Amino acid sequence: MTTAEKYPARRKAASATKKPAMAAKSAKKSAVNTTAKPAAETRLHEVLIIGAGFAGLGSAIRLRQAGIDDVVILERGSDVGGTWRDNQYPGAACDIPSNLYSYSFAQNPEWSRSFSGAKEILGYIHHLVDSFQLRPLIRFQKNVTSLSFDEAAGIWTASIEGGESLQARSVVMAQGPLSNSSWPAIPGLEKFEGHKIHSARWDHDYDFTDKRVAVIGTGASGIQIIPELVKQAGFVKVFQRTPAWVFPRPDFSTPEWNKTLFRKLPVAQTALRKALYWTHESMALSVIWNSPLTGVGERLAMAHLKNQVRDPWMRRQLTPNFRLGCKRVLISNEYYPALQAPNCKLITWPIVDISAKGVRTAEGVEHQFDCIVFATGFDVCKSGTPFPVTGTGGRELSQEWSRGAQAYKSINVAGYPNLFLTFGPNSGPGHNSALVYMESQIDYLVQGIQAILGQNLRALDVKPQVQERYNREIQKRLSRTNWNSGCKSWYLTEDGYNATMYPGFATQYARQMQTLELDDYLAVPASA
Ligand code: NAP
Repeated sequence: MTTAEKYPARRKAASATKKPAMAAKSAKKSAVNTTAKPAAETRLHEVLIIGAGFAGLGSAIRLRQAGIDDVVILERGSDVGGTWRDNQYPGAACDIPSNLYSYSFAQNPEWSRSFSGAKEILGYIHHLVDSFQLRPLIRFQKNVTSLSFDEAAGIWTASIEGGESLQARSVVMAQGPLSNSSWPAIPGLEKFEGHKIHSARWDHDYDFTDKRVAVIGTGASGIQIIPELVKQAGFVKVFQRTPAWVFPRPDFSTPEWNKTLFRKLPVAQTALRKALYWTHESMALSVIWNSPLTGVGERLAMAHLKNQVRDPWMRRQLTPNFRLGCKRVLISNEYYPALQAPNCKLITWPIVDISAKGVRTAEGVEHQFDCIVFATGFDVCKSGTPFPVTGTGGRELSQEWSRGAQAYKSINVAGYPNLFLTFGPNSGPGHNSALVYMESQIDYLVQGIQAILGQNLRALDVKPQVQERYNREIQKRLSRTNWNSGCKSWYLTEDGYNATMYPGFATQYARQMQTLELDDYLAVPASA
């Protein structure tokens, strides 16, 4: 039986006039109670999506294709694009090939390179908005500050900064795991009198010409920024805490004939996408688990280092002391050459503090700068939520996750009915395209929302024992992965709990997301 047969999609959006009696009562109550300055919107929507990045926009597209039209997207910024709108630092690009880092239902024959830059990816996102006519659904500069569920009515209320609120029967949280930049806890950060820039909030007006620049952080962002800064700045000092495994990047521009072929014969692009998908799937064997292929991968990365860095001492400084895959694997052809440029210096002494003039390191040197670039990553809500989320019986998601976030199949949490997470706990890929995982999540949440609307449910709530069983298994499998093999990374909490990554192939993840089994859920009819 197909999903559509199981949960027939309603062709017409459920308007406020069709809402259950309890819902109407509650909405009315809320309208009376909400005397906040900007009037609360009392119309009940079928679906609220929080965030207009890849996940939010993809969800809106698929929901509408399933016949669910009453969708509102609240976006805290003034443009779409999420992380690709925010991360526009020089050199920003995706490290997954564009033909795989795009939606299978919206392939783009025009990619200019195998690994496109952030600007082009943002252009693709704008193209999605225009071609699927999503703009009327989006309300910009609406920062959601809390979510709470009225279980008697089966309604979520989102409070928005400034006093507005919005109600919906289902909510899709698509605010992105990497949406809040993280400033490091280095003493004296506020004392620095020069210019400070974070990689995720680039200052495009700052002129680096002849400037003395520090870069703190050598993760996926840092290694893309450094080669660009070395081209412009007077000198660049790179502060590295932990060296990463770096692979060559097979990046080349797309010939015109290739674009024409993909335009005329989309099946050819689908075939390439499939080939890229299976190539990445095979990488799981070296990145996720410690297998003989892990050693092969490490030797390949070491060969890349040896090939690009002549000085043995520098090679030692750049050699990782943890297993391949434990931290994110990086790809770059330009990073090692940039570190050896005459105006660049790699510093591996630990940073002690930041002074008014620059960065002080453990051997007692003060390095003076005009500008410090922080490529120090994101504040990932590993054990919290981006804003308070209140479920049934007044339970608080942050509190329940204080000892580690967990969800069923990464998407639903018991006690928070009709709420769907994108990139929720343990959905992170280490070896394949995030968009492959995202598509599976979206197709799953569409099934859930179809069930809620098609069967007029007040609540679709995953059973706690089902969620618990799922997470016991996930944590057991994670304990055998490279991510949990001893290094520190943003995947783990301070005490080593991994609420971030999915311990398996993308194919396994997609398979588990294929069907929403109603038996795993408590389905409460609106009339009950
Ligand atoms: P990240 O991977 O968390 O790296 C942060 C860097 O800052 C690390 O080198 C870290 O060192 C360093 N750091 C943090 N605090 C520090 C401190 N107090 N003192 C010295 N160094 C410090 O962040 P990111 O590079 O922004 O990447 C985050 C994620 O974004 C990636 O894993 C990836 O998922 C995504 N991303 C993807 C792409 C892409 O091409 N698709 C590009 C950029 C980012 P340690 O390693 O020692 O902690």
